[in-house]
Amino acid sequence: MSVEKMLKYQEVDMRYIKLENEVKNSEPAKKKNMYRAATQKSFDTLTSMDDATKNNMDTVVKNKSKLEQLDKQIDEIATEIAEENDDKQLEYYSKQLEKLSQSLDDMEKETARGNKDMSDAKFKYGKEWEQAKKSNAYYIKYNEEYNNFVKDRAGEANAIRKQLVAMEAELDRELLDRYKKIRASKRPVFVPFHKPNICGGCGMEVAQDVINKLGEGRKIQECPNCGRIIYNKD
Ligand SMILES: [Zn+2]
Repeated sequence: MSVEKMLKYQEVDMRYIKLENEVKNSEPAKKKNMYRAATQKSFDTLTSMDDATKNNMDTVVKNKSKLEQLDKQIDEIATEIAEENDDKQLEYYSKQLEKLSQSLDDMEKETARGNKDMSDAKFKYGKEWEQAKKSNAYYIKYNEEYNNFVKDRAGEANAIRKQLVAMEAELDRELLDRYKKIRASKRPVFVPFHKPNICGGCGMEVAQDVINKLGEGRKIQECPNCGRIIYNKD
């Protein structure tokens, strides 16, 4: 297995990675992602507003039944008062009525607050909905630009991929698998050994036994620190 072949492969692969990064970091990609996130955020807000509205509606329904209850109680007292009562009983009923009328006041205030909350929520909901539509329209626009951007580079990308596949036939399978595994997180994978003891990838000193192995004609060794493959051209 010659390290040269693997390095040549890496060189071609780096061109592919460069192309990938170009696409990933392109303006349409950034804008597309930004507007997708914005649309998602608006929809999350709308969903939580739906929940709030539902809670508000529950309160309205609850208040309505409380009001009916109060009305019933007042009616009952009114019936009692219509009958013959002594002063003590009248005083008791009048106190009861006072309490109930206070409860009615409170309920009315709460209902007014609820109505205001509902109308505020409706306004905010409408605004958020408009925002969501706008973000989504931008997302669609930039997604299309992004797709065109990718399409423009598809020819070049395919050519590089074909070249890589052709080269892979000549490479050591096991080493290629290791390369691909490391490639997912660290690039480049193959890094030169810098004398007397430095990994060309992470810049850390490597242990003496690794250096010994590199010197013993075994041309490649894994860096114990960063996991890249160090090669020794000497
Ligand atoms: Zn390293």
